[in-house]
Amino acid sequence: MPTTPILVTRSSMPPFEEYAAEIAPLWESHWLTNMGEKHRRLEADLREFLGVDNIALFVNGHSALECVLEAMGLRGKVITTPYSFASTTHAIVRKGLTPVFADIRPDDYTLDPERVEELVDDETCAIMPVHVYGNLCDVEAIGDIARRHGLKVIYDAAHAFAVERNGVSAASFGDASMFSFHATKVFNTIEGGAVCFADPSLKDLLDQWKNFGITGTESVEYVGGNAKMNEFCAAMGICNLRHVREEIARRRVVAERYWERLGELPGARLSLPQPGVTPNYAYLPVVFEEDEFGATRDEVYDALMARDIHPRKYFYPLISDYACYAGRFDSSATPVARHVADRVLTLPMYADLALEDVDLICDVVAGCRG
Ligand SMILES: *Cc1c(COP(=O)(O)O)cnc(C)c1O
Repeated sequence: MPTTPILVTRSSMPPFEEYAAEIAPLWESHWLTNMGEKHRRLEADLREFLGVDNIALFVNGHSALECVLEAMGLRGKVITTPYSFASTTHAIVRKGLTPVFADIRPDDYTLDPERVEELVDDETCAIMPVHVYGNLCDVEAIGDIARRHGLKVIYDAAHAFAVERNGVSAASFGDASMFSFHATKVFNTIEGGAVCFADPSLKDLLDQWKNFGITGTESVEYVGGNAKMNEFCAAMGICNLRHVREEIARRRVVAERYWERLGELPGARLSLPQPGVTPNYAYLPVVFEEDEFGATRDEVYDALMARDIHPRKYFYPLISDYACYAGRFDSSATPVARHVADRVLTLPMYADLALEDVDLICDVVAGCRG
């Protein structure tokens, strides 16, 4: 019997004793937040793991994104994708910048560089692409557009932890990359996030922006916010990082079972690893082309829910169709994104999802075919 309900994800946690040992020293130091020892340790561990020189930790990925926009002092338009989580566009809007939506590529759902280039004008200051589901963007083409037009590139790499291409870490592309360490991500600190960046002079700025703009014991130079990661979250990260390679290896077994089973179904489009890319198996998106598949995405969703299996329509609706942005954007301007958003379902995916449960899910999906 499958263990029901089967949710779309399940947060990874270290053995309890390992976490208890990691936080025990906090009862001696009484230093609970404000860049304490665990915070410094996790920054160092992540620099090594991600293969980067510069990193700043945050209370969550969204605040990290807002802080980097603020620290870079950007003004004007930011070209981005409507096929993402709310955070990407919300960060742009909340920092007083104007989002401009470019369409995505039909094969990996990342920003289409050609569509980006068409939208660049005198007011454009940056590009904010998303490595959707851990699929890497065309970083060369995007970097080339940015260089020619003098734009910053800030990647939303929330899905791309531990992803590499030809041995190069996803954290090293563009001017900056934001990672989310939310409980549902491949690597979590309960809530948390980070920015990796190219220009070392951003380090002090980011650390100050996340701590009220305080620059010294008697000086406050910016109207910063509070976005610091606390010691308990950092300790969770230190523990989870020790197990993340093994986690990813176990996710791979699950993903490969899905691909083997679903690969036989015409009209069920999978997101297979890109050439040269070491994936993290963060999500299991399937795009149901109803003409070929014989059922719509919503029919598959309903059939799974009826069996107490909880997939997600991720990402649906497009950000440009959100109620909070009503009247501001026209999602028919990004037809590929709209096509995918109307047909995508992300299936349950986590390291300890039993293969029998994967088989059951695939049986239910296959049973939807007309
Ligand atoms: C999770 C996520 C974020 C936000 O990260 P939080 O840590 O939850 O604030 C941003 N963008 C994308 C694409 C995400 O999936």
